[in-house]
This record gives sequence, C-alpha cells and structure tokens, in this order.
Amino acid sequence: MSVVQRKAMLKAEGFFPHKKNPVGTTIIYSRKHPSAQFVRVVVDSGIDSKTGKVVGKVGVKLCFVNRQKSWRAITTQMFTTNTGLVKTIKTQEAAEKFVKTCKHCKAKKFTAKSGNVVCANACWSNWSGKKKSENNTKKKSQKIVAGNPPQKKPKKTVAKKSQKKTQKFVAKILPGDLVTVEEFDRDDKKVIGFEGSVLGIVTQTYGEGTVTVNWTANTSSLQEWQLPWTASYTIPENVSATPGNRLHHRLKVLSRKVEWERQ
Ligand SMILES: [Zn+2]
Repeated sequence: MSVVQRKAMLKAEGFFPHKKNPVGTTIIYSRKHPSAQFVRVVVDSGIDSKTGKVVGKVGVKLCFVNRQKSWRAITTQMFTTNTGLVKTIKTQEAAEKFVKTCKHCKAKKFTAKSGNVVCANACWSNWSGKKKSENNTKKKSQKIVAGNPPQKKPKKTVAKKSQKKTQKFVAKILPGDLVTVEEFDRDDKKVIGFEGSVLGIVTQTYGEGTVTVNWTANTSSLQEWQLPWTASYTIPENVSATPGNRLHHRLKVLSRKVEWERQ
C-alpha cells in the first residue's frame, strides 16, 4: 500500500523515475524546479529497485545541473513520510531562492567536498585555465586550490623576477578562525579593512600555504576570486611599477590575536 501510494503521489507531483541510482539501490525520481533554470527537484523514493519494497524514508533535495551535466546538491536532503511528502517538496522548492548564486556565471553554489561553498559550474577553473596558458603556471599548484577560486597573484610573478629582494610574511591561521580581509598597497601599507562587509570561517589550513575559507558574507566590491586564500605572501622591496597595480589582499583573523610576521 505504502509503495503504491508513494509512487502515485510522486507521479501526481510530476516526477519520473530514473533508470539508475549511482549511489544506492533505491529508485530516484526527479523533475524540473517550477521556476529556477537548471534546478531539479530530486526525490530518493526509499523504494528498493529490486524488491519493490519500502526500505527507508523518502528524501527530497534540490540539484543544480551544471555545464558538464553533473548534478550538484544545492540544498540539504530532507527526509519525510508519505504524509509529509508534498509539503516537503514545496519546502525544498521554496528553499531555492536562498541558495547563493555565482556572480560570474549565475550558476547556483553548492558545498564542495572541501567544505567550501563554490560555483556549481566551477567557472573559476576556466579562468585559471586561461591564466595557465598565459602565464604558464604550474598545473599542480592549480590543483591544490581546487574548490577555492584562485586569486590573481601578481606577487608571485614579481617574486620570481626579484627573488633576492623579497619579504615574506606569514600568519598562523587556524581552522575555526573567524576572518575578514585587508587590502594593502604596493608598499605594504593598509588601504582598507573589510570588517563589516566580508566575513568567513577558516575550515582548513595547510601550514603557510592554502587556507580554505567558508565565506559567509561579502557585501564588498571584492569578487570571490579576489579574496585571499593563503597564510603567507611575498612583497618585493623595490617596486617600480605604477601605483595601484600592486594591491593585494590578506586575511585578518577577528576571533583572536594573530599577527602577520616578516620572515
Ligand atoms: Zn560560476
């Protein structure tokens, strides 16, 4: 009864069963979101495809179908019974407008395995691809930052040119730190602090290297790819370039006292 009822409800709601479930044995159903482009309402029926029996609650979530046709879960799956099914579908559909959108390609954002909330299209990887061919940067270093949009790093190219006359700064940033961003000019003088407009929580660190930050708020004019993602940076001593083109951004820890130290 329960199986028949559940299937009938899903059909009445406009859902169609998928042929495959890549992660389990239950029958997956989906249909388009009523208004949002590339968004699908996905239902794990909890009905086993082989036995035809109910093996679990029914789960409902939203997925964004990205440019590579991969489905990215953009809401947390909610589990319900037959009685709550229609209401849960409505709740999930309504949750769509709270899902963040990528400023660059308008795709929905999702929480990647790294814990970072990133563009479902991973559109930043195309920019770095472009950058790669222009600058001939190493592929491996690009891979490490996957899941965190890479920042343009003029300081690196500069560092290569004047390797002996550089200053390195390091900060001991730790997971759980509440962070914002500070902008510095070419003389390493602070220009702007973004307290109040940019806020994030550090989720992972790799020594002096990459810092993964879950950016929870950004009402500044900074693009996501401009937000800093390292616990170290290098400044050239003799900058001969025109003023203004060596602005850089670094993380500032708000939740405890962390100094950037010259090495
Ligand atoms: Zn994007």
